[in-house]
Amino acid sequence: MLVVFSDLDGTLLDAEGYDFGPAAPALEALARRGIPIVLVSSKTRREIEYWRRRLSNGHPFVVENGGAIYVPEGYFPFALERAVRRDGYEVLELGRPHAELVRALDEAARETRTPVLAFHRMTIGEIRRRTRLPPALARLARQREYDEPFQLPARAPADPLLRALERRGLRWTRGGGFYHVTGHGGKAPAVEILVSAYRRACGRIRTIGLGDAWNDLEYLRLMDIPIVVAGPAAHSMRSALPRARLTEPPGPAGWSRGVLEALASHGPSEVVP
Ligand SMILES: [Mg+2]
Repeated sequence: MLVVFSDLDGTLLDAEGYDFGPAAPALEALARRGIPIVLVSSKTRREIEYWRRRLSNGHPFVVENGGAIYVPEGYFPFALERAVRRDGYEVLELGRPHAELVRALDEAARETRTPVLAFHRMTIGEIRRRTRLPPALARLARQREYDEPFQLPARAPADPLLRALERRGLRWTRGGGFYHVTGHGGKAPAVEILVSAYRRACGRIRTIGLGDAWNDLEYLRLMDIPIVVAGPAAHSMRSALPRARLTEPPGPAGWSRGVLEALASHGPSEVVP
């Protein structure tokens, strides 16, 4: 059985217009074969729920760069260890609370005199300008639980601030034009838990993973077929993970091509039991 893990921004969704239309050929091929797509994103639960509805996707998902795993109740024939039931999901929280991250980011900014533009202080208008999200989605993007995105002015050195965050036991990553501060280990630990759950439920599985930015790299290392979708970070990511396939063009068209090539190399016989 195959399982596809995928980032959203700049990968399945166009980095500018948030469109997945060009991914249709691969989305249809996956749907025909009943192959699950697990969304693994820096987006919030509410945003990912929106995209799952648009994609008619009923599979588990990972929010806020690995902050929590959401599994629809009853999806696996066993309960996910340490998960709590909430709103029809089993939720496994891996991240630290957003309020704590915001406090630490403020302290680190003061300590290092770095002019940080934190996401929670941006107005909906500013979020729209900086992310090009439509207003309704910008509101969903603000409902953060485990990850605070921020930007720095072009000339501000990032290093002192990032070191100050690390001294507080926090982690940071970059993706989609933002830095992110989190209290958890990124997307990879969350993906690892889901891969084991699929193995336990389905036996042998093969995994295809797609991403376009540094916050995807560690989770792509866990994939049988890692695919880097073209973008500013693609070549350096490929050097860091030489067995990754690189697809052109960027965004959903590259996503589609990468998935179709992986399916072709994998053979047509594999379907969900
Ligand atoms: Mg991305």
